[in-house]
Amino acid sequence: MRPISKRPFSKREVAEFYRRLSASRPIPQTELEFINPFALLVAVVLSAQATDVGVNKATPALFALADTPHKMLALGEERVTELIRTIGLFRTKARNIIALSRLLIDEHGAVVPRQREALETLPGVGRKTANVVLNVAFGEPTIAVDTHIFRVGNRTGIAPGKTPLAVELGLEAVTPARYKHGAHHWLILHGRYVCKARKPDCPVCAIADLCRYQAKTPPAEMLGDMIAARAAAVTAEPVAASRPAALLKTPAPALPRLRGRGSKPRPD
Ligand code: SF4
Repeated sequence: MRPISKRPFSKREVAEFYRRLSASRPIPQTELEFINPFALLVAVVLSAQATDVGVNKATPALFALADTPHKMLALGEERVTELIRTIGLFRTKARNIIALSRLLIDEHGAVVPRQREALETLPGVGRKTANVVLNVAFGEPTIAVDTHIFRVGNRTGIAPGKTPLAVELGLEAVTPARYKHGAHHWLILHGRYVCKARKPDCPVCAIADLCRYQAKTPPAEMLGDMIAARAAAVTAEPVAASRPAALLKTPAPALPRLRGRGSKPRPD
């Protein structure tokens, strides 16, 4: 993991963090396409370890045939499998979609429940999926921590944690009430498009001065200077090694840091 300053965010900094993210995306919304809460639930189940773009390519044909639990059950696992085969883990997901449709019919009157506990009993639905459904379909102020939010929470230092649950609880604790409903989308979109895993766009990041990540991507022109400085320092090292022993005790000048690969494990 890249070094991160442990200095916690103050209340003023947290408010400013969200003020800027909300200003950059005034209407926070999911990029998944859906037509009702059931379709949203199915789309979120399909999005596990897949991109929203990939899910959106497959779901129009699926939802045209089956936008209710009854229709999905009637469509059958084999046909659902065919319709979603462009999405990773499609066999398991098709099985789960049929099973959750059956459970919704048997135990919830074919309606998507609004309670987290009930949602989490559905096949293929964990805490993250339940949080997305609660937030998007029912307007609850939940924060679903996916790989992007996990990375942003840790890198920025606003809610560091070793697990998605720790980051979620940290975000819930610090996020002001007026930003709680949109926080999920602001954080996920910031992680997806700016604070990217491999090379975050720090030079254009709206919250760079608040962010505690110490290995920020430098501006392109600075990167050239840093590479040249490091090359010069490395070239000079053999000369220093031939100096008398007393001089060798002088600490070598610190080399400028160069960024490597992304920083976080995927939580999902
Ligand atoms: S400054 Fe860089 S590391 Fe920090 S939030 Fe912005 S993009 Fe991410």
